[in-house]
Formats: sequence, C-alpha cells, structure tokens
Amino acid sequence: MGRLDGKIAIVTGAGSGLGRAAASRFAAEGALVACVDIDGEGAQETVTAMGEQGLVVIADVTSEADAERMVAETIDHFGPPTVLYANAGIGGRGAAAEVDLETWQAVLAVNLTGVWLSAKSCLPAMIEAGGGSIINQGSITALVGFSNSAAYSASKGGVISLTRQMAVDYAPHNVRVNAICPGVIETPLLRRSWALAQGVEESEVDDLLAEHWHPQIPMARLGQVDEIAAMAVYLASDEAAWTTGSILTVDGGQTAM
Ligand code: NAD
Repeated sequence: MGRLDGKIAIVTGAGSGLGRAAASRFAAEGALVACVDIDGEGAQETVTAMGEQGLVVIADVTSEADAERMVAETIDHFGPPTVLYANAGIGGRGAAAEVDLETWQAVLAVNLTGVWLSAKSCLPAMIEAGGGSIINQGSITALVGFSNSAAYSASKGGVISLTRQMAVDYAPHNVRVNAICPGVIETPLLRRSWALAQGVEESEVDDLLAEHWHPQIPMARLGQVDEIAAMAVYLASDEAAWTTGSILTVDGGQTAM
C-alpha cells in the first residue's frame, strides 16, 4: 500500500530539482503524476523513470491558457487532480535598488502568478472530485531577510500569504492548502545562481557553497531534494487531513538561529 494510492497529482517544475524528486516520490507512493514543465526534455526524463504512472505536460505556468491545458490534459489522461504541487520557480538576484524591472516581473510571474494560476485552474476539478491538497513552494527567504534577493523574497512572501488566504476560502470544499519553505537545497537552480553570482563554473561551486552556508545551518550541511519531497508526500497524503494554512519550514534549523 502506497501512502498516495488513488491520488492524481500535478507537479509543476517537475523536470528538475525539487519538482522531479517530489514527482518521483509521489509515483513511488502510488500516485498518478502529471509532470509539468516548460522544459519538455526534463519532464520527459522524470516521466521515463516512473513509467505509466507519469504524464508529460509541456506548459508555462505564467500563461493562463497553459495552466488550463495542464489540468485538461491531466483529466483526459488520468482523471481530476486531487493533489497540486505548485513548485515551478526561478531565481533572480539583486537588492531593491539594483534589480531591474524585467527581472522583478519575470520572477513574480513564475513564482507567484504561476502558483496562483495553477491553483485557479485546478480548483474547480478538485472541488468537484470531493477535495484535495494544494502544496505551494515557498522558501525561507519569505521568512527572514536574505541579501540581494528583493524580487525572489517578495515573490515567496506572496506565496505564503496566498497559501493562508486560499486555505481559508477552500477549507469548506475539503481542499487543504499549505506551503513548504525549503532552506538551502542542492539543486541545479542553486548551483547555477551561485556560479553566476561568483563568476565561476558550476563544477567549482561546491567548496564555495560549503564555506558560505554550513556555518549558517545548525545541521551544518545543505539539504537534499528528497528531504523536501518527504514533506510534500506528507502534505499530499491523508495523514495531513487536518493540516491546512500551514507554512512548513524544512531547513536544517537555519531559521531557528
Ligand atoms: P530547478 O531550476 O532545478 O527546477 C525548476 C523547474 O521549474 C525547472 O525544470 C524549470 O524548467 C521549471 N520552470 C521554470 N519556469 C517555469 C515556467 N514558467 N513554467 C513551467 N515550469 C517552469 O529549481 P529548484 O531548486 O528545484 O526549485 C524548485 C522550487 O523550489 C522553486 O520554486 C524554488 O524557488 C524553490 N526553492 C528552491 C530552493 C533551493 O535551495 N534549491 C530553496 C527554497 C525554495
């Protein structure tokens, strides 16, 4: 018996990093999983590893038409979604006085508008199916001030507020809405943004990451994608039946310091 037997899940940003890890865990726990990404090759790789339990949907979460199609394709292939993990996100560095408007708008579009559009598109089918679980991808940057991340932090702060707001509106429909706030996790996004910021190759970032982050994390290491996927499985499952409007921090103790 899997913990997610009978669930139909949509995972956005499933072609890489945290989304791929969660989609794979969902399938391993028995769910049918629509793996949504703007990067079709990445999504295909995720689905190839899970076989017939997976479906590739190439979609841009910033487009309302794409978000609606993502749900329509899921319904056609598997049935109505009962789990949505709105995980797709991008980075974007810069302090408030430095970040350019284009970066600000791009980051808000994917990280906040994309989360809202994904929920907006899923909710009617989820409610008709009798309820479900929406998991939004936050970040600890929404909870404490991180340098040089005005747009990113603002987008994640919006995700936290939207999560609490939607939890209130949709509890009567048996839809739970929670957010995960990961700390610093080893993913392609982290490596890319560090290589860019430090002007080094991605292969050279390991030592820099350890030197910078380990002293700031009580558990003295970066997180792994499976450690966030484990929280996503809990929130997707019926074990979390009374958990809604919660902001769950998984960060090795970083925000406890
Ligand atoms: P990643 O770059 O490895 O994966 C993100 C995926 O989202 C990619 O496959 C990308 O193609 C997809 N994507 C980007 N824009 C999209 C769009 N418009 N429509 C559909 N798909 C799109 O990144 P990751 O580190 O796995 O991050 C995933 C999420 O976790 C993001 O929301 C990120 O902000 C959040 N997060 C990451 C960390 C970390 O340390 N890695 C920490 C906290 C929160």
